[in-house]
Amino acid sequence: MKQGKLIVFSAPSGSGKTTIIQYLLAQQELELGFSISATSREPRGKELDGKDYYFLSLREFKDKIKQNEFLEWEEVYRDNFYGTLKTEIQRIWNTGKHVIFDIDVVGGLDIKKTYPDKTLAVFIKPPSIEELKIRLKKRQTESEDKINMRVAKASTEMATAPQFDAIIINEDLDMAKAEAYQLVKKYLK
Ligand code: 5GP
Repeated sequence: MKQGKLIVFSAPSGSGKTTIIQYLLAQQELELGFSISATSREPRGKELDGKDYYFLSLREFKDKIKQNEFLEWEEVYRDNFYGTLKTEIQRIWNTGKHVIFDIDVVGGLDIKKTYPDKTLAVFIKPPSIEELKIRLKKRQTESEDKINMRVAKASTEMATAPQFDAIIINEDLDMAKAEAYQLVKKYLK
């Protein structure tokens, strides 16, 4: 059975993590494959099923929990479940690639615990909670309520940063991308 490495990126929502992950995926020499999570939340904007997420109903998601199909799962926000299917890692390893995860802090640390010898866990920090709020508002994809929910959670998430292998402060996006690239490249060597 083929096995590669696991690269976890965790961060509060709105910290620029997804943009950085997209950048790394575009660097073909890194040979990264994106771990598509399952979620019970509704698709946002241009998100596609089977590309950004496997969109499931709450019921389907709970059935998969019962069937023990998840490597890890979290109710990240109320009734919004997110999880990594066990089949996802092997699917990517079989293509000869390493796996990159866009995942919440608890899930990220779970993966590190399950695969301590093959995981690089990186935390992306927004410059401040205020800045995070501004970024989430600019995105215009969520209601005020949902934004407040995400901001409230961000403070707790920030406290877990020291448990990660590396922390990147996303003050300047280009610099954050370059830093992420160097970290991943060095780890995969
Ligand atoms: P969003 O709704 O903005 O796409 O994601 C909300 C949060 O859920 C983000 O922090 C994202 O990283 C996290 N998330 C996405 N997929 C997973 C997953 O498979 N497991 C866990 N634990 N969190 C996830």
